[in-house]
Amino acid sequence: MTTISMLIDGANVQAERGATFERRNPLDGTVATTAPAAGVADARRAVDAAARAFPAWAATSPGQRRALLLKAAEALGARQQAFAEAVAAETGGSAMWAGFNVHLAQGMLLEAAAMTTQIAGEVIPSDVPGSLAMGVRQPAGVVLGMAPWNAPIILGVRALALPLACGNTVVLKGSELCPATHGLIVQALQEAGLPAGVVNYVTNAPADAPAVVEAMIEHPAVRRVNFTGSTRVGRIIAQMCARHLKPAVLELGGKAPLVVLDDADIGAAVDGAAFGAFANSGQICMSTERIIVDQAVADEFVSRLAAKASALPLGDPRKGPVVLGSVVDMSTVHRCNELIDDALAKGARLLCGGKADSTLMPATLLDHVTPEMRIFREESFGPVKPVIRVKGVEQAIAVANDSEYGLSAAVFGRDSARAFTVAQRIESGICHVNGPTVHDEAQMPFGGVKASGYGRFGGKAGIHEFTELRWMTLQTTPRHYPF
Ligand code: NAD
Repeated sequence: MTTISMLIDGANVQAERGATFERRNPLDGTVATTAPAAGVADARRAVDAAARAFPAWAATSPGQRRALLLKAAEALGARQQAFAEAVAAETGGSAMWAGFNVHLAQGMLLEAAAMTTQIAGEVIPSDVPGSLAMGVRQPAGVVLGMAPWNAPIILGVRALALPLACGNTVVLKGSELCPATHGLIVQALQEAGLPAGVVNYVTNAPADAPAVVEAMIEHPAVRRVNFTGSTRVGRIIAQMCARHLKPAVLELGGKAPLVVLDDADIGAAVDGAAFGAFANSGQICMSTERIIVDQAVADEFVSRLAAKASALPLGDPRKGPVVLGSVVDMSTVHRCNELIDDALAKGARLLCGGKADSTLMPATLLDHVTPEMRIFREESFGPVKPVIRVKGVEQAIAVANDSEYGLSAAVFGRDSARAFTVAQRIESGICHVNGPTVHDEAQMPFGGVKASGYGRFGGKAGIHEFTELRWMTLQTTPRHYPF
């Protein structure tokens, strides 16, 4: 069992009245972590600390910020084993998943380090004689970042890396489901030598989330908010931000389609679908949530995919390497079981896997899924995925777009020009041709459309989100006035 602290103003602290909450292991119910249960006063204290640290941090040179972010990447990598243990204990994820998380999160810190010298403005021709006019990007202020449990290291680092690179200070609100995993990120940043108050870390009990989050969003020093999580909570955050006129980046749920056209390389499509559907037991926002297959190749595709899915190793990640570890909690099991019952009652066919009675859930595929079935629209966020058979390209596109979500998507086809044309017509922030729906790189513009949210993390797109663009002029000659 791990007991953790919050980080406020460079000090490891407990919550104001010593309140704590527990995160239990999803498989055996043992206490994985005891963490501080912050209240509103703690939340405000964290923002105050970030506000005090802001002027000095904003004034650091890009080279200084780059050096610290590079050190942070190293310190993060050195915690590989601790991350794997924390992920297995708190959320039941496999060592492979934790390793991939650390690898990509390190990439995000390296990319953020590189971006410190790319925060460019522009000189804009002015009609006023002698006026040198510029668009100048400046740090915005305190950034509040909120990250979920499912890709905990990637999304925790994503919430703060580019904001820091841009010269902002940060308060990270950890997930109630993985406070120790998120805490290790903050430890790595602290070890790298970030000045006190530049990064602050707040943990809260689930019941306190609405009050703690609102206290931070309404704090005048908070100038940007980023939230990665469900569409349900994303709407609440969006409304809070609107009330307080705070710009937000919202990275929300998904129902990613993977379209298999009639000329697809079936082996490549099967590999892409299996990876996209079952990595981290399907608990990824980019998970392949709808496998849309042209009927001309459906029988072959489905039998090969089912064979691959049935063979994926499943087990307690603390006991050895697996592909499917434990899902995060029993509510995922109940939700997925309901989706399976509903689909089977309405005529779907079970290809492999099936209902589970513990958080060790097998890879499950349902064939002949139709729009009347709940799994056609609802995010399973577990290893239960539907196959929808379609006739021709137009129906494939129509089905792909028949969703409230629009985060990631994929199209498989040998005629790459045709496949690319299909990809262009899919309503999503991200789409890969002949690649899986699950794919993230630090330098890419990452984000969704429709109910998957708005704003973009990653590379230059992220700089726009976490800086203030100011119009500034320097009058270099005497200015003419009408009076
Ligand atoms: P969640 O939305 O249930 O919880 C996120 C956080 O919201 C919690 O930690 C909680 O503190 C906070 N919260 C809950 N109720 C609140 C309220 N009333 N007011 C303010 N804050 C509140 O999400 P989750 O279960 O942690 O994550 C899973 C979801 O995240 C899935 O839908 C998944 O698709 C999505 N996700 C999206 C991305 C992306 O990049 N688009 C990445 C990963 C996960």
